[in-house]
Amino acid sequence: MPGWLVSLLATVVVGALVVVIARSLATINTLKRRLDDMEMGRRVRPVRTRAVGPLGHLTRRFNEVIPIIEGRIAKLDREAQQLRIVLGGMTEAVIAIDMRRKLLFANSSADALFGLDANSVGKFLLEIIRSPQLHEMVELTLARQGEYIGEIALISREPFPRPHSRILAVHGSPLPGSPPGGAIFVFHDVSELRRLERMRQDFVANVSHELKTPLAAIKAYTESLLDWALDDSEVNMRFLHRIEEQAERLNQLIMDLLSLARLDSGEVPFDHEPVTIGPLVKKCAEILRDRAEAKNLKLDVQMGPVNDSIVIVADDEAVRQILDNLIDNAIKYTPEGGCVRITCSLSPQSVSIEVADTGIGIPRDDLNRIFERFYRVDKARSRELGGTGLGLSIVKHLVHSIGGSITVNSRLGEGTQFFLQLPRERIAALPQSPSTATTSS
Ligand code: ADP
Repeated sequence: MPGWLVSLLATVVVGALVVVIARSLATINTLKRRLDDMEMGRRVRPVRTRAVGPLGHLTRRFNEVIPIIEGRIAKLDREAQQLRIVLGGMTEAVIAIDMRRKLLFANSSADALFGLDANSVGKFLLEIIRSPQLHEMVELTLARQGEYIGEIALISREPFPRPHSRILAVHGSPLPGSPPGGAIFVFHDVSELRRLERMRQDFVANVSHELKTPLAAIKAYTESLLDWALDDSEVNMRFLHRIEEQAERLNQLIMDLLSLARLDSGEVPFDHEPVTIGPLVKKCAEILRDRAEAKNLKLDVQMGPVNDSIVIVADDEAVRQILDNLIDNAIKYTPEGGCVRITCSLSPQSVSIEVADTGIGIPRDDLNRIFERFYRVDKARSRELGGTGLGLSIVKHLVHSIGGSITVNSRLGEGTQFFLQLPRERIAALPQSPSTATTSS
């Protein structure tokens, strides 16, 4: 072969090799750039190449796989977004931590509960939530590598009205992986539930106690009568009167409990209709006048501007029961020779009725509690006077049900004033909240 032909062939082969290598290098560079794009989360365009052989095959597979991977990433993004929305909308607080106890995630309820913000993510849990119980629970969950279910107490972050303890039910689970990648905790605030449970337990204990006392007395008097006292004219009538008194006390207690149960269940049908309040107040006072006079008390009714044309919209039976309780208490807790005064006044929106007495008064510390069920300043005195300790809680319930409000003022040894406000002429759409703390339970 002539020398020039060899040189020509060599030049062609080298040229072709150079082209192939140059295209391969260009393709490899483009692939590298696309991988960088993928790493940075940018959109990845297909790689145009004229590379042949394994590199060409690899590039074509790369181009085929890219939309599949992008589809999966988009799906994961959508799912993550949905998860964030679901977690964000949960009333339960959710936090996730890694194995180093650093915060990975907190939803908005957790932010509010523990006072976290966007900067909290990545910090050690110990730094951002100061609760030994919570950290103990985290350690238990991570150590057991199993579910943790329990309750912890957390001192609330709001100082008003005062720092208080919250009871949180906690469910902790390790994150998937071996070893686990951390743990996730769900917190549910059960403080209100526990408070209601405690109230229910106290209520049952109180009812049992209140029923037991008169029943024990009835039993004792009956046994004495059967054993020896029936024919003893000195004591038999006295014992029978005691039995009658205790039976009346039981009856009153059961009536009050039934009233409360009906009010609680919302089954009481309130007939909101126009009521001329003046005659109703006067009638309630008249019914109790005999009892006041028997105790040598002055019962004074001042109707003021509330003439017989003034109308409120309420259930007249409820108003009657409220006034009855307040006036009856005023008579009960005022010693002989004192005075009970009922004073009415008017505003464009409401009728106010003050029931004031010159009685024993209520100590300042007890004022906030007298509307609670079974709360009595002096248990023995209340029982002696035939009280059940439920009257004012029924009053409070009724007042709220008819959209009114009630407050109390008192000075020990000087007297007590209850201020009742009832709405005029329109039915309150929703029961109003009490106007002072003295009516909250
Ligand atoms: P009770 O049946 O014992 O009277 P209430 O619920 O009606 O129960 O009242 C709760 C407590 O509030 C009473 O036991 C009493 O200590 C106090 N109280 C209520 N009204 C008066 C009043 N007018 N004067 C003094 N204390 C009162």
